[in-house]
Amino acid sequence: MSRSTNCFDPIANPGGMLSVAESVERILAKITQPTQIEMVALSQAQNRVLAQDQVSSFNVPQHTNSAMDGYAVCAGQFAHQASQTLKVVGQVFAGNAFNGTLAQGEAVEIMTGAALPDGADSIVIREAVQRDGDLITFSDTVNIGQHVRQKGEDIKAGSVALSAGCLIRPQEQGLLASLGKQQVAVFEQLSVAIFSTGDEVVAQGQPLPENCIYDTNRFTLTGLLQRMGCRVIDLGIIEDSQASMEQVLSRAATQADMVISSGGVSMGRADYIKQALEAVGEIAFWRVAMRPGRPLAFGSLGSTPFFGLPGNPVAVMVTFLQFVQPTLRKMMGQPDWQPHKMTAIAQETIKSREGRIDYSRGVYRINDQGELVVQTTGAQGSGILTSMVQANCLIEIKEQYSQIEAGDRVLIQPFSDLL
Ligand code: AMP
Ligand code: MG
Repeated sequence: MSRSTNCFDPIANPGGMLSVAESVERILAKITQPTQIEMVALSQAQNRVLAQDQVSSFNVPQHTNSAMDGYAVCAGQFAHQASQTLKVVGQVFAGNAFNGTLAQGEAVEIMTGAALPDGADSIVIREAVQRDGDLITFSDTVNIGQHVRQKGEDIKAGSVALSAGCLIRPQEQGLLASLGKQQVAVFEQLSVAIFSTGDEVVAQGQPLPENCIYDTNRFTLTGLLQRMGCRVIDLGIIEDSQASMEQVLSRAATQADMVISSGGVSMGRADYIKQALEAVGEIAFWRVAMRPGRPLAFGSLGSTPFFGLPGNPVAVMVTFLQFVQPTLRKMMGQPDWQPHKMTAIAQETIKSREGRIDYSRGVYRINDQGELVVQTTGAQGSGILTSMVQANCLIEIKEQYSQIEAGDRVLIQPFSDLL
């Protein structure tokens, strides 16, 4: 294969190191957007991506209506005059309309959500009036239009309420419901096959032999994938033998839209996974200028994208967030997705190294002065999963910094995207 046609070729990077941004760009360039569309019940549509623009054929709300319980009045008639006495000529409940037009000196008792009577332009809330028989008196000035919801103020008839490519969260489910949708067209759900590697990695339910560790990566990956709305195909722990690895990889590629492994991709390691990957697919082993997560394999098994994530439990989660998440988002129909970032004030010195991005686990909060501040969770070893448990963000220290001082502004990636 010539170098120019294989952008995964590690030899194409003479320095041997790729930046995070370059890696994401190379990966996304290989990923196509979805074409398969299906209809799903609105109640089942969370975490799916809209496949079509949603145009409303009617105004939401349909009619100008009251935002409060009170009295519908025509403030245009008595603007700027304090103390009004008006005659109550009717009552209107939500779902109904007042039959008639408000005349000079008249008011209609109205409930929240009821259509504004003809001739009325404002609402005086119930608490602001004194009622005596069919007369009401109030002394507050009335601003024309107060407590009135205009027809179409949420969604105008004929407008695009939600665009294709929009991720469906509870609020989108609500908006689609307000359009009367029972079903929506979404891109197909993705299936992702995962497996762990390493002879020292032991499944739960087994006794833990000396010098071994329980498999954590399949569980963090499963949780991350489920939160993204993917179906998970769990292939378990694959023994370190080239034959079983090749078999698993070929099978996974036909079952899943993406295959993710963890472990066995470090440089200079004689893990069978590398040989198996090279036999079954087209894979490059990268060294990414980041910590944690320097070794990363990416490529394809047939037409199925493959990620070989590092083995260390924190590195798995960090590389998932930086590389796998944007890839899955594009495959789900959100091509321009990016992690949310904010700046916060560092509360301590944080060591880093020039030339690579460090992702420290951090805790951000608002201090007594109302500022967003962040500190690390302490020890940052890439096997210390407790750091992820304590954290609510990653602190992203860019390549150009060798150290962050207390008081400096740093970028943070809040876990609220997913975790
Ligand atoms: P490797 O990339 O295979 O050299 O693994 C790097 C480190 O991560 C080693 O200490 C492994 O024991 C550990 N590791 C690899 N896979 C897992 C896993 N599934 N669960 C927990 N730790 C793992
Ligand atoms: Mg290993």
